[in-house]
Amino acid sequence: MALVFTPNPVPTVPVLGAEERFPVHRIYCVGQNYGDHVKEMGGDPKQNPPVFFSKPADAIVIDNAAVQYPPATNNLHHEVELVVALGRGGRNIAVDEAPQCIFGYAVGIDFTRRDLQAEAKQKGKPWDAAKGFDQSAPLSAINPVADGKLPQQGRIALRVNDEVRQEADLSDMIWSVPEIINELSRYFELQAGDLIFTGTPAGVSAVIAGDHLQAEIEAVGEVDFQLVSE
Ligand code: MN
Repeated sequence: MALVFTPNPVPTVPVLGAEERFPVHRIYCVGQNYGDHVKEMGGDPKQNPPVFFSKPADAIVIDNAAVQYPPATNNLHHEVELVVALGRGGRNIAVDEAPQCIFGYAVGIDFTRRDLQAEAKQKGKPWDAAKGFDQSAPLSAINPVADGKLPQQGRIALRVNDEVRQEADLSDMIWSVPEIINELSRYFELQAGDLIFTGTPAGVSAVIAGDHLQAEIEAVGEVDFQLVSE
């Protein structure tokens, strides 16, 4: 079949300890999944179920490459998150079957144009421009896990210019990874190659061009990159 132009290649992520790379299908994200972050955004963690949104697959930035400060915002926020990489998908995946869908985990940053998100929330507008912009998803290599192994606890943290801005434990998540996969698969047919950003703890804050960001999750991995001007 002839194509009218050469398509962009499928975005891929390095896999720790392997030559093969992980091809990305879609990026799903969960909002409001740590009680303290929900509170800092003015919500009640028990009343608000997680919100799902998405980013384009080619929003990922890998190999600790520098990220360009995006246009059209004056309030770019970092959100460090545990990222789940699916090796299998499906619809209506049961909670107890969800671990078998997991290929591995990574550390990701859900960069957010907070000013645009605040306006969208206020006016009932979509979040796409606030969340799904170019280079909005820096990502570590994927750490593959043995069948069913879940990081249910462990330190998750982010530093800006060596100052700790976010620090929490994965056990603080409101919805567990299997519960997220279960719920998400009610809305979408999940597929191998899907990435799920599982929400951020408290401490989100603004960053500017020139800042050095380091994020880590115990036993999962780390990302370390510069934010540079356009
Ligand atoms: Mn987020």
